[in-house]
Amino acid sequence: MKKKVLICILVLLFIFEIILNISILFFPKIKLEGDSYIKVPVFEERTFDSVSIYRFGKKIKAKIQEKNNVDFKKIGKYEIEYIYKYGMITMKKNRTIEIVDEKEPTITLKGDKEKTICPNAIYEEEGYEAKDNYDGDLTDKVIVTSTEDNITYTVVDSSKNKTEVTRTIKKEDKEKPVIKLKGNATVYMNVNTPYKEEGYIVEDNCSKDLTEKVTIKGVVNTFKVGSYKKTYTVRDESGNEASVTRTIIVRNPTKSSTCTGKAGVIYLTFDDGPNAVYTPIILDVLKKYNVKATFFVTMAGPDSLIKREHEEGHTVALHTASHNYKTVYSSVEGYFDDLIKVQNRVYNITGIRPTLIRFPGGSSNTVSRNYAKGIMSILANEVEDRGFIYHDWNISSGDAGGTTDPRTEYNNVVSRLSKNCSNVILMHDIKKHTSLAIEDIIKYGLENGYTFEAMTPETDPVHQTINN
Ligand code: ZN
Repeated sequence: MKKKVLICILVLLFIFEIILNISILFFPKIKLEGDSYIKVPVFEERTFDSVSIYRFGKKIKAKIQEKNNVDFKKIGKYEIEYIYKYGMITMKKNRTIEIVDEKEPTITLKGDKEKTICPNAIYEEEGYEAKDNYDGDLTDKVIVTSTEDNITYTVVDSSKNKTEVTRTIKKEDKEKPVIKLKGNATVYMNVNTPYKEEGYIVEDNCSKDLTEKVTIKGVVNTFKVGSYKKTYTVRDESGNEASVTRTIIVRNPTKSSTCTGKAGVIYLTFDDGPNAVYTPIILDVLKKYNVKATFFVTMAGPDSLIKREHEEGHTVALHTASHNYKTVYSSVEGYFDDLIKVQNRVYNITGIRPTLIRFPGGSSNTVSRNYAKGIMSILANEVEDRGFIYHDWNISSGDAGGTTDPRTEYNNVVSRLSKNCSNVILMHDIKKHTSLAIEDIIKYGLENGYTFEAMTPETDPVHQTINN
């Protein structure tokens, strides 16, 4: 009996099992689409495939519930849960999402990545900046290490991404020092006077105090007229060498009463201009005979005539701006202020700063006594100390008061010309009679074997006797 019951139960269980298995065949199935683990870079918003429901091997439409708390802005592991409910039965699938930061931080160097510094210098940090896509500013976390010729900057972000940047330091100096001469590069001095070295300074990118290391070669024989050179040389600590040269011209100023200078040369000199009416006439004549002259100008007349004088090969020299005796002879500074004013005028027109000058009234004038006693003696030295060269004359045409007759002016000049001396002729291009006399004077000179020259800084000056 008991045996029959047991068999019965077993048979029932077997039938139940079969029914169950058959009914499972009718149940839908859940399947995860895509990978169950997905790695996503932080800040990259994404969507993921969901799950599909199959029944009898066919995909069916179904309502899927999704539990999703993924924060794409925050590193970490997240689970997405997909839920499907079929009657009393709940089916689930999970997917793991890992938000990661695999991006390295960046280091930006301020200044050059390849830096050249002086051999004796220590590199001064120019700064850097470290930034990370996830951690933000990491500048404080940068570790700086240095060797003889490298500086390494290292930073690691919170996800252990590491960045390393190197700055190369080269110790080298290829730049030459610069020697700056005090005073002029060309110095004019009178024979039998002492040579005054005006000095120099040295500037160098790496070495300091090189001024004392300058060596000077070259000797000036102050007792002999001639052109001399002094060469200043200096070498910096890296062996870069620089030199400059100063030319010293020792001259013998000619007294107007003595006959020296370039024999048979005529220097036509015109003071007080330019003049809008007479200067162009004189320039036309000079051009016609291809004769060059020297103009000691003031602030008078149009700029265009100074330009023309310069462009036609004449020498533009300085007379003073105002030509006012009170202004120029009351004080040394008053004189130089006035002189620099006219020098600026010429510079602005021609691009050249003339150094050739003539004193209003000449260096022998006595009118200056009315304003300052002894001023001509002071100025005659001072102008040379400041790099100017003054010229008087040894032939006066008399055009400034002696005569208004071109024929008399002509005679005044040609009667005094000398083949053995240089002939510095004083004229004024603001005078009508001079504009009328000039052609005959030139013709006479050319026909009688004289040569005409414009003055240059090399021209030996004729000096009159100073009377004040
Ligand atoms: Zn004058």
